[in-house]
Amino acid sequence: MLFFDYHSTTPVEPGVAEKVLLYMTKEFGNASSTEHAIGDAAEDAVKEAKSHIANLVGASPRDIIFTSGSTESINLAIQGTVQHLENKDIHPRIALSAVEHKAVLDTCLALEEQGRVKLSILPVDTQARIDLAQLEQACASGIHLLCVMAANNEVGTIYPVKKIAHIAQTYNVPFLCDASQAVGKVPIHFKEWGITMLSLSAHKFYGPQGVGALVVKRGHPLEPLLYGGGHQRGLRSGTLNLPGIVGLGEACRLRKLEMEEDERAIREKRDRLQKLLTDKIPGLVVNGDQENRLAGNLHISIPGIPNSAVIARVRLKLAISTGSACSSGVEAPSHVLRAMNRDEDIVEGSLRIGLGKFTTDAEVVAAAEILSQTVHAVRAAMAV
Ligand code: PLP
Repeated sequence: MLFFDYHSTTPVEPGVAEKVLLYMTKEFGNASSTEHAIGDAAEDAVKEAKSHIANLVGASPRDIIFTSGSTESINLAIQGTVQHLENKDIHPRIALSAVEHKAVLDTCLALEEQGRVKLSILPVDTQARIDLAQLEQACASGIHLLCVMAANNEVGTIYPVKKIAHIAQTYNVPFLCDASQAVGKVPIHFKEWGITMLSLSAHKFYGPQGVGALVVKRGHPLEPLLYGGGHQRGLRSGTLNLPGIVGLGEACRLRKLEMEEDERAIREKRDRLQKLLTDKIPGLVVNGDQENRLAGNLHISIPGIPNSAVIARVRLKLAISTGSACSSGVEAPSHVLRAMNRDEDIVEGSLRIGLGKFTTDAEVVAAAEILSQTVHAVRAAMAV
């Protein structure tokens, strides 16, 4: 089975897994148990993890709130900001890009449906790029929150976060950057660029699933989603997930050290796979911004060949995705490709291929062979 679905999740680095196991079995303290040394050791481990995360994204350790992952971080950022504004009798206006992950999009749409916010959706072009002039207009119009991701989880387009943060700051607009696909892959400077809130998930960069963080600029007011023991300055009650947090910290430490070299090697393999597929499959279209996309992203469409026909044939030997299937497993047409205004056969024929640091050259060749043979088989079957 070949794994080419690194946008969905990644295998945990062996060194990270070892640390997680250690903190599950031997160093298992509750970081809030201040009465004994086992609790103190847990607290120290949390502090160390914070410093690794802060170091990777250019933040201060005190800015970090641990969560169960990006979905929770995003909900805390959006709902927490909205609740705070409502407490001050403000009816919030939010601008967000049309290609945000559902964690952002559906949170905002739910709040709109409840009559609690007014939304402005920022359009993208055919390569999923955002128009900065339009974004600036939205900021100038007096919005209360701007949401733009750092990199797209379907087509891999990387957004100019530094410029976006600068525009948001100019108009005093809090800026939430969903950096789930970008952390550990492209440089991010939270403080220097002036980002207000940033979400990340450990399992997107070789850490464990179910743990992540929201990085929040000091002074940005938030109301909590969860009430309880008042952990994490009252913003996220609940016993800290110590093994997960240690794993997240270790994954960040390793990305800081290895990101540049790993991403260069991943890009080379992705380019090789793109060349092999383009040569073998006539009519193949590469989606997204080829000048500015994640190194491990290859998003293709084969017009006339429904993606479901390809996935059904390869699913036991090659893990790839349509990129748009929701967690219920019900396939919906990609809102990202729709927002990019792509033709219906491009949308229906789209496949997301994701490479990572464990992808080998032999796997690249094998994946290209499986995909091209499958496409030829589907074409032959459709011609009958
Ligand atoms: N945002 C983006 C861009 C993502 O790719 C994902 C995961 O696919 C999420 C948010 C949600 O992350 P999680 O499922 O870890 O909460």
